[in-house]
Amino acid sequence: MQFNISTKGFTDIIDVTNKVSEIVKKSKVKEGICLVFVAHSTCAITTIEYEEGVIKDLKRALEVVAPMNTNYEHCKKWGDCNGYAHIRAALMKPCLTVPIENGKLVLGQWQNIVLIDFDNRKREREVIVKVIKQ
Ligand code: ZN
Repeated sequence: MQFNISTKGFTDIIDVTNKVSEIVKKSKVKEGICLVFVAHSTCAITTIEYEEGVIKDLKRALEVVAPMNTNYEHCKKWGDCNGYAHIRAALMKPCLTVPIENGKLVLGQWQNIVLIDFDNRKREREVIVKVIKQ
């Protein structure tokens, strides 16, 4: 299964927990794992507490690790100048595995699944979800 998401780019952090949960519910799998994957080299899938402060803090931390406005070798190669986006995506990874118990994703009370699009423009993204029965 998959679903599509419109992103604004520039480290757009989007809560996709409900969309993933719906797919798990439809699968009728009670015990197993759920794999969430995004097939783009400037995106990541992870979990965070989806709260304004955490979102701002994460963006600030990523600006320290891989700043937007610095020179990247990648820009010399393609001229798309989104080197920061590739570095952030590589560090945060494109996929996530979540256990399924009693037909539900095992997530903490304040733990949401997010897609992050680091690219330097608006994009349409596809998120792939595989539900695997134990
Ligand atoms: Zn690029």
